[in-house]
Amino acid sequence: MSIKQTAKTAAKGAAKRAVTNKVSSIGKNRKKGQRIGPGKIIVLILLLVVVAAAAWFFLPQFLGEPEVVQVDGPPVVIAAEGEVVVTFIDVGQADAFLIQAGEQIMLIDAARRPGDIVPVLHEMGITKIDIAVGTHPHADHIGGMAGVINEFDVGQILLPDAVHTTQSFLRMMDAIEERNVPMDIPYQGQRFQLGNAHFYVVAPEDADETITRGGDFNDASIVVRLVHGNTAFLFTGDAEHPAERQMLASGQNLGATVMLAGHHGSRTSSLPEFVDAVNPEIAVISVGAHNKYGHPHQVTLDTFAERNIPVYRTDELGTLVFVSDGNTVTRRY
Ligand SMILES: [Zn+2]
Repeated sequence: MSIKQTAKTAAKGAAKRAVTNKVSSIGKNRKKGQRIGPGKIIVLILLLVVVAAAAWFFLPQFLGEPEVVQVDGPPVVIAAEGEVVVTFIDVGQADAFLIQAGEQIMLIDAARRPGDIVPVLHEMGITKIDIAVGTHPHADHIGGMAGVINEFDVGQILLPDAVHTTQSFLRMMDAIEERNVPMDIPYQGQRFQLGNAHFYVVAPEDADETITRGGDFNDASIVVRLVHGNTAFLFTGDAEHPAERQMLASGQNLGATVMLAGHHGSRTSSLPEFVDAVNPEIAVISVGAHNKYGHPHQVTLDTFAERNIPVYRTDELGTLVFVSDGNTVTRRY
């Protein structure tokens, strides 16, 4: 054994003895059975109370957002009385949002294919849809609508005054006709009741005129502002800058707690002044991973980041569920 090793072993032995002594001395002290006076008990109780109070106040801050549970199927949240549940369904590079308000159900857009939305709605336990909204005639919004109409009892469908010649659009129109679904073209500012909530159609102003003068179908998007108590959700469809400017000029209340960033987070939507008018606490982007458009664009993400507005993306987080109790909106998934 080298000198170095001997020294090491000796040091180890000394440390071991020191620890043993310490432990045995603690044991000895305990054996002595020191009496704890009533003063010490009061101090101990006070200390416990202070610790408990501190935990009560500070623990939620450490825990932050409610835990997000990964699930196989769509996360299903049953609305408690007085609540509104808004589910941004992960349907890839497309839109489909389900709103449960009391007994009433609204579906805004229906994904790209029936297969992307119909099974999901079944898994969520949906049997009827009181109001369906096809924001505009593009396939990533109404592609699955015929399937939804054929599969569920749809009470009413709202569409903009814009017709398209695509298969998905014609299939939707056929389904509406075959199933006798009442179809309405809402006017800007029109108010609808939806269970314990209501909503306004804040756009378009005149879809037919927009399309006729060569505007984009995106700017014909029906934009819905859902109001529940002091909270609101703004569903912008694919409305781009011209539609956003028109909504601003219309003088309508655009304020919302949760805002869908228009057109899947494209740079052609979410004008800074529009975002300022909406003044959301939360932004949602419905977008598919590695989509060919490069959505969401960095400039859009920057617009929200500069305002400290957290952005939740379906490509990163999957289906998102928000619950409003009329005063606050909480993310449940
Ligand atoms: Zn779209």
